[in-house]
Amino acid sequence: MDCLFCRIAAREIPATVVHETDTTLAFRDISPQAPTHVVVIAKRHDTDAVALAKAAPGVLDDLFLTAGEVAKAEGIDDSGYRLLFNTGPDAGQTVFHAHLHVLGGRPLGALA
Ligand code: IMP
Repeated sequence: MDCLFCRIAAREIPATVVHETDTTLAFRDISPQAPTHVVVIAKRHDTDAVALAKAAPGVLDDLFLTAGEVAKAEGIDDSGYRLLFNTGPDAGQTVFHAHLHVLGGRPLGALA
């Protein structure tokens, strides 16, 4: 298994897990870009969010539901937060396993 996030999902590589469901795992980003920066991954392997939507749309829903639970637990559900999928190299995707970034805890600037 050479996928980093598959290995985190399999608990072969440690991560600070903040939430888990049957289909998703949420853990703190190793290089946080905001006071709250959590990555929500699908436990199944698909290269990006669009591939996941085609293969298992219900799991894509699960990513958003988990993100909402994370935001609530982090206390940023009222102030607001950003949900972000980087898709492909030009977008800055570095791990080719579908994942949703949850960013918040400070005012976030406009997207580039
Ligand atoms: P991407 O750039 O959208 O693909 O997001 C990948 C994210 O995974 C980046 O924000 C990285 O900082 C994060 N990351 C990489 N390795 C680890 C790790 O071992 N634990 C937690 N987060 C990681």
